[in-house]
Amino acid sequence: MALDLPFDNSYARLPDQFFTRLAPTPVAKPSLIAFNRLLAKRLGLDADSLSSDEGTAALAGNGVPNGAEPLAQAYAGHQFGNFVPQLGDGRAILLGEVVAPDGARFDVQLKGSGPTPYSRMGDGRAWLGPVLREYIVSEAMAALGIPTTRALAAVATGEIVLREVPLPGAVLTRVAASHIRVGTFQYFAARDDRDALRALVAHAIERHDADAEDALGLLAGVIQRQADLIARWMGVGFVHGVMNTDNMTISGETIDYGPCAYLDTYHPLMVFSSIDRNGRYAFGRQPDIAMWNLAQLAMALLPLIDDSKAAQAELDRFPELFRAAWSKTFRAKLGLETVEDGDDELIHDLLHRMAENRADFTNTFRALGTEVARDEFLDPAAYDEWHTKWNERLSIENNSLKIALNAVRSVNPAVIPRTHRIEEAIQAAVTGDYRPFERLHAALATPFELSDSNADLARAPTKDEIVPQTFCGT
Ligand code: AMP
Ligand code: MG
Repeated sequence: MALDLPFDNSYARLPDQFFTRLAPTPVAKPSLIAFNRLLAKRLGLDADSLSSDEGTAALAGNGVPNGAEPLAQAYAGHQFGNFVPQLGDGRAILLGEVVAPDGARFDVQLKGSGPTPYSRMGDGRAWLGPVLREYIVSEAMAALGIPTTRALAAVATGEIVLREVPLPGAVLTRVAASHIRVGTFQYFAARDDRDALRALVAHAIERHDADAEDALGLLAGVIQRQADLIARWMGVGFVHGVMNTDNMTISGETIDYGPCAYLDTYHPLMVFSSIDRNGRYAFGRQPDIAMWNLAQLAMALLPLIDDSKAAQAELDRFPELFRAAWSKTFRAKLGLETVEDGDDELIHDLLHRMAENRADFTNTFRALGTEVARDEFLDPAAYDEWHTKWNERLSIENNSLKIALNAVRSVNPAVIPRTHRIEEAIQAAVTGDYRPFERLHAALATPFELSDSNADLARAPTKDEIVPQTFCGT
């Protein structure tokens, strides 16, 4: 008996050139690694049947659930600045969409589900490492309250995937508001297919921008969401690592957890991705790159926008939208409630001192106002000077320092997914020991609280523990 899911597949109703219909490729021996019961509930899905043997088989790509209309989406994209007119889902299959009890619509996609016509040289598979990384980091992002695709399940395939060495294969079930990317628009613009572009704009407006009236309104919505998103990333020290236009959503959700990382020691030019040789996607360059990507979206939409000056005017708003969102994020991190002249300078001053003194990003913000923060600085006097200015600024608000410190603890996480902990969890999982994965994942579900027994997960890596590079999730 096939699994029943309440699918309603609006993307599958779009014209043929949007995708290739095909089912996932079955795997040898599916076994469930992780299942997200809370997310299943949020989607209105039956967690018991989805996590049963039959459900696990479906989430590994063995058999297509009733009501699914599996397909691989077509898209293009700028990869490190070079335009590739055809990318597409090379290792993912969209099963369909479910509408949650509150009316919100979600894509349910299998990642690592076998080759598609868009696989190019790839095998269409994923190994356990990137599947667990995406599970951990996307769920941590959600727990931090930052828009992101979600992880519903991770399933081991019982098959070997060949990378440089043989590795265990896995499939991730990814849930997203949609998988429409900047690159999806570029795909049709590159083919000068205006009918498809029009259909895509209408579809995207319906799903993400109910108030928008046209392509220009959609562009404005995407610009606002991306300005907010990048500010939120930077507020938690997140480096996406591969902000190609095919990895930037229209919904404003974070997507594609490949060579991403959270900063340990703060520096604005930190780069982790092994393939980002010129630091194009360095931590502090993310707003500029977002603007560049949004300019590509504007270019793709231009055939549908009568007034190109209006599109340019929308783009020109990005720096100020980003600055405002960044300022709001970091003012909250400092426990500031009101807006005063000089707030941005106060924030920049702290960040500058942190960079010069090799302070840990997460632990410094978490401990502001205490000896622990001071001890993060090579020269604690550099912290003391800033602390005096911060206290003067806080005294303008009628709140006591105690209230400010509570605010600081409520918005600055104690625990984030540090790269060395993720790698440790992956290495153990490869040997069949999932305990470190489960422990890390559980601690990250409540990032603003830390039990004593999890103190080690909040600690910055020692010199020997630092993982200097991250790799693409292939
Ligand atoms: P990404 O770096 O994850 O954004 O992927 C970029 C492109 O490469 C997308 O079109 C992916 O579908 C494709 N791709 C990545 N890994 C594989 C793989 N193992 N097999 C087939 N296609 C892949
Ligand atoms: Mg991608």
